[in-house]
Amino acid sequence: MEDAEKLLLIEEYHDRLGTQIPIRDVHVSLHGIAENQLAMGIPQVGSALDRLMAQGLDRHQALHAISTVIMEYLYGKLSDGADENAYIRQIEGLTADKWWALSEPGKPRPRVIGHRGRRRKKRR
Ligand SMILES: [Zn+2]
Repeated sequence: MEDAEKLLLIEEYHDRLGTQIPIRDVHVSLHGIAENQLAMGIPQVGSALDRLMAQGLDRHQALHAISTVIMEYLYGKLSDGADENAYIRQIEGLTADKWWALSEPGKPRPRVIGHRGRRRKKRR
């Protein structure tokens, strides 16, 4: 899939959600970068997505969480130079709680009930 087509799908997805996103182009681009890293098979990014979803985030929230680390990396690239190893370390240390504390400071993170993650135990 071409990048332009991918970005259009990401925009359409947000339209269907009906959410207002402040800086639309940046938001969609960050999603695109995260999706590309997953498609490239960067193992730490794939693991982060699995981990965040197992911790109760839906896929969209997990991509937002990954995007916060991407943003920090890009900011580093614009200023004093980014460290790719630091990016990987941050992705590896990313948790749903860390992301929630950044995006909704002071608010308790809602617990997802009945999340159907990969690590769900079998019911008897
Ligand atoms: Zn989004």
